[in-house]
Amino acid sequence: MATIFTKIVNGEIPCYKIAEDDRFFAFLDINPMTKGHTLVIPKTEKDYIFDLDEATYSALMLFAKKVAHAIEKAIPCKRIGVAVIGLEVPHAHVHLIPINQESDMNFKNPKLKLSVEEMNEIAEHIRQKIG
Ligand code: AMP
Repeated sequence: MATIFTKIVNGEIPCYKIAEDDRFFAFLDINPMTKGHTLVIPKTEKDYIFDLDEATYSALMLFAKKVAHAIEKAIPCKRIGVAVIGLEVPHAHVHLIPINQESDMNFKNPKLKLSVEEMNEIAEHIRQKIG
């Protein structure tokens, strides 16, 4: 059965899309830790990120780098934090999280509640910064 992220890639479930190429896809996390929290995934379904073949893993990280630079241009922050958890959705994904302090990376923090309009606006800002 397709993962929820594959359904997003296939357009069966809506998302706030940030970027896409033939192999990778980036979209806003629906429960953001901070504004601009983005997930980057390979289109191929693989649960554990370290089970990706080397070429896909490397290319995923390079794609994430491009997205991270766009996020930091769009969202005021000190850095883009990077995390891989993967306990909830069995489809490899990299969290890119705009942070100002270490505690912004604490996954136990309450998630932001943003309106559809705010999420659309954030996604649009980031998309505009992708070179
Ligand atoms: P984890 O697998 O532990 O890295 O967590 C999965 C992440 O995916 C969480 O941060 C969720 O908020 C996020 N997530 C789950 N479903 C969706 C969705 N439909 N759209 C965007 N993000 C999602």
